[in-house]
Amino acid sequence: MNVILLGPPACGKGTQCQLILKQLAMECLGTGQLLRDEVSSGSELGKEIDSFINHGAYVPDALIMRMVFKWLNGVGEKPWLLDGFPRTLVQAEALNAEGFRPDVVIGIEVSQDVLEERILSRLICSSCSATHSRKVVGDGPCPDCGGVLVVRDDDGIESFRKRYANFNELTKPLYAYYEAQGSLVRVDGTLPPEQVFERVASSLKLPGA
Ligand SMILES: [Zn+2]
Repeated sequence: MNVILLGPPACGKGTQCQLILKQLAMECLGTGQLLRDEVSSGSELGKEIDSFINHGAYVPDALIMRMVFKWLNGVGEKPWLLDGFPRTLVQAEALNAEGFRPDVVIGIEVSQDVLEERILSRLICSSCSATHSRKVVGDGPCPDCGGVLVVRDDDGIESFRKRYANFNELTKPLYAYYEAQGSLVRVDGTLPPEQVFERVASSLKLPGA
């Protein structure tokens, strides 16, 4: 079985990916790691990719696809799990065109508001560095030392908003694309991680689901 896992930034996709890999022997592709591996291997492809990264530019789809096809061909007959890939319709169509068709596409859905609330509810103590959830401790003080609590990812929220807008524009259309192909399973990512995984496991027909 070949699986694609999609979801907005900070939706808990990484956690779900690890839970799947605990139960299923699959080759897992995360393109961030793959890009780093390809570059450090010193291959011709790696050098081309590196020149884009060095100039702070996006690596073009064509190069990404060459790298992913190389990986998929290396995997051979083993089942694969693509973590957060493809990111664009162009990439999805290229995968299909080469015959790399997913059996199941899990599309995690969480609204921007809920994700922002999650990010902003993570507090850190300015004295002892303990982390707390606003839902548990309110605005403080720190239950451990009485120190002042501040938002942990305050400067991360702007970068999150950019990444979410990017996801909405480029990746979200893939949900409809895979739905039309009959492979999409929508999963409500606002649930706690273990309940999200129950839905994921049942869509993959894992034992105990
Ligand atoms: Zn503290």
